[in-house]
Amino acid sequence: METAIKAAVAQYEALLREQYARAEKMKQASPATDFASKQKIVIGLCDGDGIGPIIMKEAKRAAALLLRDEIGCGRVELREIPGLTIERRLACGQALPPETLEAMYACDVILKGPTTTPKGGSLESANVALRRELDLYANLRPVSVPQEGIDWAFFRENTEGEYVLGSRGIELPETLAMDFKVTTVPGCRRIARAAFEYARANGKTRVAIVTKANIMKKTDGLFSALCHEVAADYPDITAEDWYIDIMCANLVNPAVRGQFEVILLPNLYGDIITDEAAQIQGGVGTAGSANIGDRYAMFEAIHGSAPRMIEQGLGAYANPESILRALEMLLRHIALPAQAGRLAAALSACTAEGQPRVTGDRDGLTCAAFGDRLLAALEGAT
Ligand code: NAD
Repeated sequence: METAIKAAVAQYEALLREQYARAEKMKQASPATDFASKQKIVIGLCDGDGIGPIIMKEAKRAAALLLRDEIGCGRVELREIPGLTIERRLACGQALPPETLEAMYACDVILKGPTTTPKGGSLESANVALRRELDLYANLRPVSVPQEGIDWAFFRENTEGEYVLGSRGIELPETLAMDFKVTTVPGCRRIARAAFEYARANGKTRVAIVTKANIMKKTDGLFSALCHEVAADYPDITAEDWYIDIMCANLVNPAVRGQFEVILLPNLYGDIITDEAAQIQGGVGTAGSANIGDRYAMFEAIHGSAPRMIEQGLGAYANPESILRALEMLLRHIALPAQAGRLAAALSACTAEGQPRVTGDRDGLTCAAFGDRLLAALEGAT
């Protein structure tokens, strides 16, 4: 056991030095891309696994239609990026096959289908790796139920917390296992800045800072303190502290949930609570997500590859709304608000009360049928 403990301590020291270097590097932030003045924008398209290729097909059809003019004049390119599949990742033993990552570096933004991560083993999640490699630190997940007064924007820190060293914990065989949670000063400041900037730009007056700082005193304590430090630059916005457990309860409490606007959280809490929030909106199949960094951004559904749907022969019934909402966010991000607005209006029309719905089962529309209806709505709005 002495040898195992010594090896674990050496591993810990190496991790600590690596994370220190990461934090130092983060301090040299580059300015965000100005898409409005960019002459050429490359949108990478990755199908992913399971229901990924099925829902991506509809997103690609919508993107081709919405961006017809921009593609025609060469300002926008839709570029297929193969290889982000579980088969290829297992074959090369890497979360991101090197040639796929290279192809992504050559894009400005990426629209990505969900990717499968095997339970256990050492293969890291492609998403976690992608967020790290492209430094996509802000995960924005909007949830809206207008008839219930719900309009939430979740800002989840996307590169730190339990995820950054998630595949590199320590084990003493037959005795114990330890994982690590990492919170850095520049990492907290930049996600807090992103959330408060979003609040200001969108006329929001409240930011809820959600942690478990009463228990995770170092990491969540730092997160909360730095969010308040950033909040001081936004005197017109009220910053409030909440604990994650009561926040989970609040989201299902109709008496209070309407008061929340921007919700700012560390990585793991954000991951979990946004699935709960999406369920309130109508299920994970209705929710999109933006992963934003200064140089790159990646847009995707909030759900996974739904292997059970594939096993049960229900893949064709997957809801593409999630990835289409992600496409809407992508269009806004690259400074094409008119195209984003057209897509939002068509989605609202196709999902309005009384319209045939995609339920994820045989009693609902197929993914392709929803795509046909959406395209017809988009053509109609031209
Ligand atoms: P999941 O989100 O893939 O699916 C859970 C259930 O939600 C499905 O069985 C289905 O009933 C429903 N669902 C999901 N998407 C739907 C859609 N578009 N339309 C209708 N119903 C839908 O969760 P899981 O089964 O826990 O994860 C499967 C795999 O996906 C795992 O390997 C996991 O690691 C991975 N994952 C990937 C991402 C990502 O790529 N961003 C996110 C979460 C999970």
